[in-house]
Amino acid sequence: MQATNPSDEDKPGRSVLVTGGNRGIGLAIANAFLANGDKVAITYRSGEVPEGLLGVKADVTSEEQLDAAFTEVEAAHGPVEVLVANAGITRDTLLLRMSETDFTDVIDTNLTGAFRVIKRASKGMIRLRRGRVVLISSVTGLYGAPGQINYSASKAGLVGIARSLTRELGSRGITANVIAPGFIDTDMTAELPEDTRKSYLATIPAGRFASPDEVAKVVRWVASEEAGYISGAVIPVDGGLGMGH
Ligand code: NDP
Repeated sequence: MQATNPSDEDKPGRSVLVTGGNRGIGLAIANAFLANGDKVAITYRSGEVPEGLLGVKADVTSEEQLDAAFTEVEAAHGPVEVLVANAGITRDTLLLRMSETDFTDVIDTNLTGAFRVIKRASKGMIRLRRGRVVLISSVTGLYGAPGQINYSASKAGLVGIARSLTRELGSRGITANVIAPGFIDTDMTAELPEDTRKSYLATIPAGRFASPDEVAKVVRWVASEEAGYISGAVIPVDGGLGMGH
């Protein structure tokens, strides 16, 4: 059995790629790796690239755009050693009102999008014999939520990806873990009606939403050498909301 050298895995200056890293949780994650001394690239679709980050334009629903984005990142930073599949959308509505497009759009971005980037990144990781894959799921993936049949299905699917990937590539020094945030203050939760926010708050043992930084620090840690023997895990960052799920 071959052991990887832990010091290689955690040394600053790793090539990190975060999908949807231009805002919200993805941006906080990108900045956390940047503060660690890593070389950080983000995918974005529009707007400005935040300072210090290499922005590569890509929509995670397009294999071609992702391939071009990876080629750009590899040329600038080397093969991706840490991949954070963060890009995600919601199309919330109750089952009877949910169209098939509402369902498939969310799956295509949140689940198939993660598959596309992981598949592309895995080639370099296998060659390097090391890698960290972190999938941003959600408490609702395992806990469920009314109005989120599409979203929770996509987020539960990420657990299957991480666990099968762990069994497929675990012996190559590659780990794959799922982070399951609860309610985090970003554009995504800003869209919630005030009474919905209040009712969610009442169910969170911590009694508050979290900041994107609180998720980012856990992502950075699970991608560190210290977490080298953790793989296929679902790590909640939810103030106790999903306990036991
Ligand atoms: P935001 O809505 O603030 O940001 C979403 C990000 O995903 C943006 O960067 C967006 O890019 C990107 N994105 C969406 N669709 C695509 C696509 N097709 N291709 C490429 N990029 C895309 O969301 P959050 O920061 O709140 O969420 C980040 C992740 O965390 C998501 O996966 C979400 O499901 C998850 N999450 C969030 C929680 C929360 O409470 N906020 C709780 C649990 C999980 P663009 O700017 O171009 O639209």
